[in-house]
Amino acid sequence: MVSVDADKCIGCGSCAAVCPDGFEMKDDGKAHVKDAKAPCIGEGVSSCPVDAISQ
Ligand code: SF4
Repeated sequence: MVSVDADKCIGCGSCAAVCPDGFEMKDDGKAHVKDAKAPCIGEGVSSCPVDAISQ
């Protein structure tokens, strides 16, 4: 299960930039999981500077 901790997310957009199939930025300024099974999910998780994504 992949999830973004909205309290930790600083809205930098890195996860959605490296893995657009897996993450998307929404109007709340936070990243949201789009497809937890996207092949690039791990890269998105690794790209997060504040470790807001758990996998
Ligand atoms: S990389 Fe981390 S801090 Fe940046 S938008 Fe994604 S979840 Fe939020």
